[in-house]
Amino acid sequence: MMTDEPLLTVEGLTTEFTTDKGTLVAVDGIDFEIPRGETVCLVGESGSGKTVASESITRIVPTPPGEVSGSVKFDGQEVTTMSESELEEIRGGRIAHIFQNPQDALNHCYTVGWQIVEAVQTHEPDVSKQEARERAVELLNDVGVANAAARLDDYPHEFSGGQKQRVMIAMALVTNPDLLIADEPTTALDVTVQAQILNLLEDLQEEYNMSILFVTHDLGVVAGIADHVVVMYAGKVMERGTVTEIFEDPSHPYTRALLECLPGQARAAEGIPGTLPSPINPPDGCRFAPRCDYAVEECTAGEQPPEEPLSDTHAVSCVHYQQGYDPSTVKEEIVQDDGATTGGVTSD
Ligand code: SF4
Repeated sequence: MMTDEPLLTVEGLTTEFTTDKGTLVAVDGIDFEIPRGETVCLVGESGSGKTVASESITRIVPTPPGEVSGSVKFDGQEVTTMSESELEEIRGGRIAHIFQNPQDALNHCYTVGWQIVEAVQTHEPDVSKQEARERAVELLNDVGVANAAARLDDYPHEFSGGQKQRVMIAMALVTNPDLLIADEPTTALDVTVQAQILNLLEDLQEEYNMSILFVTHDLGVVAGIADHVVVMYAGKVMERGTVTEIFEDPSHPYTRALLECLPGQARAAEGIPGTLPSPINPPDGCRFAPRCDYAVEECTAGEQPPEEPLSDTHAVSCVHYQQGYDPSTVKEEIVQDDGATTGGVTSD
């Protein structure tokens, strides 16, 4: 039955790790949704909590030392209270993961065909080996591996980086997942191959009718694949919106700083000055305050500012959008490195 309900709804998701130095809060009470058949990008610098957030959905973070709380509803079912066996059915079934480095995920002692056949037969134990091989060929064809039947008997080291990522995507598709969680799947690839993999994911999304949660540090990649964007910093959501809202009306100083780091923009060479705060002892107030060019006194007291809605789909966590402030102060034009200016950065 078709429904308008989001495929995934995350509310108050918090992931903590017990360490010798104290409790490390990697993800701190975040909310987001993934609509059916659409792509949501979780974006932020390394250490922003985006990978831990994505891994907390199916609880593949190690627990202990990790502890996940909050609500994760997948197709109406609460995931956080599921037993391990119920979770096992969803992981690698209706929700599949692919990771940055296919090198680590593939077993180099077995042929690619053997590994896909095993994945097919694990998911469907009644399928014969011959049928599973035929399915493996179909999957390799779907992900654009040329000469798929012959390549089944090749070992992972005989595939290029881009081809290995295609194989990993094929293995993720074995179960015809409703949600594909892709964690920096193109980061290790050169720009041309990166674009090919993004195009492939878009084609497969339509063919397999999947939603995608795409985790990346690269707003350039986001422009090519996202329907919706959630910008994370130090475990918190700073801004969320459609891809058009984020690129044409970036509103949070952190989002704008990330955009200024794109090639051709003012901070492309040096990046955002400073580093992320400690997740064990984060600063009071806005987590971004120590690096923010627009911080005022109120930014450094209390909690992270609540999200202020700018539209039905666009919200921002910054005091300059609260009553009594003028948001235009944080919306100076973004300066490109050739001296030209722009309000936002177009997504195409
Ligand atoms: S709340 Fe303050 S520190 Fe945080 S982004 Fe807004 S201006 Fe900067």
